[in-house]
Amino acid sequence: MSKTRVRFAPSPTGGLHLGGARTALFNYLFAKQQAGTFILRLEDTDRERSQEEYAAAIVADMRWLGLDWDEGPEQGGDYGPYRQSERLDRYKAAAEKLVASGVAYKCICEAKEKGAPAEVCSCRDNREKIQEDAKVAVRFYTGEEPVTIEDQIKGRVTVPAENISDFIIVKSDGWPTYQLAVVVDDMEMEISHVIRGEDHLSNTPKQLLLYKALGATPPIFAHLPLLTGADGGPLSKREGDLSLGGFRHKGYTRESLVNFLALLGWAYDDKQQLFDIKELCDKFSLKKVSGHPAVLDREKLDYFNHHYITKGEEAAYLSQAAVFLGSRARDAGRDEAWEKGLLMAVRRNLNSLAEIPEKSGYFFAAPDYDAELMAEHKDAAQLLAELVEKLSGMEKFAGEPLEGVLREFVEQQEIKFKVLALPLRAALTGQKVSAGIFEVMELLGREECVKRVRSFIKAAQGE
Ligand code: GLU
Repeated sequence: MSKTRVRFAPSPTGGLHLGGARTALFNYLFAKQQAGTFILRLEDTDRERSQEEYAAAIVADMRWLGLDWDEGPEQGGDYGPYRQSERLDRYKAAAEKLVASGVAYKCICEAKEKGAPAEVCSCRDNREKIQEDAKVAVRFYTGEEPVTIEDQIKGRVTVPAENISDFIIVKSDGWPTYQLAVVVDDMEMEISHVIRGEDHLSNTPKQLLLYKALGATPPIFAHLPLLTGADGGPLSKREGDLSLGGFRHKGYTRESLVNFLALLGWAYDDKQQLFDIKELCDKFSLKKVSGHPAVLDREKLDYFNHHYITKGEEAAYLSQAAVFLGSRARDAGRDEAWEKGLLMAVRRNLNSLAEIPEKSGYFFAAPDYDAELMAEHKDAAQLLAELVEKLSGMEKFAGEPLEGVLREFVEQQEIKFKVLALPLRAALTGQKVSAGIFEVMELLGREECVKRVRSFIKAAQGE
């Protein structure tokens, strides 16, 4: 059996959006599942629309998602993506071969009338009249036979010859078109399976004809179902920014996005929803990819995000969470251990990593006490005044001893723990909801806790 080799082949005419990221992930998972090779190839032959910043963003997003590719040109001790703009000689050679064998012909109407429909091209009939030095494109003759695609997901699709018009393979500026470059590369890179979005199904008959004309066996095709909005209609502006970078900035974790993307058209069974990337690599199969459109369900993504933030691997959480905290801890003169403590303390209350700055504000600045909070807790001023005496005398101001002191205090006072904890939380954080009280105290430190409780008491008494 020949080896599995797949590729993700984005055009850098825009960044990576959810649809592209899903295609990339499915290729990656399929390669891993089959112990095959995964390739990243930037299809940058559209000179007008390709941009270097999009290419860089795609590469960065792929790395962020953890979808590392297995080969490519050497780049700083790692593999860079293949780029079609660096492989032009190959497309030129293929086009020459096709012209020489008579299945492609020189065309002057592409040069004359950009985007002219092939139906009006009569260059094939007027071959002799085209002058040697004319500015020409090369057009491929698609023949008179229908083309049948045996798609792994869509099944058998037959397209009549009249629906496949002769198409340009080399533009008049000498650059290959997508149709030619994609086939030449998939042949040269020995791609065994082309897994891509359903929007490319209409390109497949043309590509099958090119394989045949170049004497190659085509790869197996698998076209992934369309993504739709919540209402089942095509994705529209209503779904908002669907770029992967947009989701990352909004505080979605890589684990939540990978899990979410994996379920856009694929399911393992009708029960399991949570999958980490390792499990996906084991369980993914093309056979279980549905041909039906996949609905983007944002609530599901939010659920996954909360799940992975609060219950995912600690190291994965910490490294992604730190990005959202930025340099705040360092700027406040705190060390790495303190920063880690803070991130762990706020973790369980987060729906998104982007909430980190807002939900950790009180660690960096003394809170303002709003009137409502004050009214609710001002009767606890005396209790807090007694507590503050105990706190200021403590030697080791850390989680366990703190818990011991607070529990002993409530016992002596014969009150429930929350009768102390609620006003204490209000005094320390200015919030009704915060990280765990012992963690907050340890992170703030004795001086700061004592200071805050005293100003709270003062404010309460001033009322
Ligand atoms: N370059 C094409 C795109 O970005 C994909 C080509 C393919 O997968 O065959 O849509």
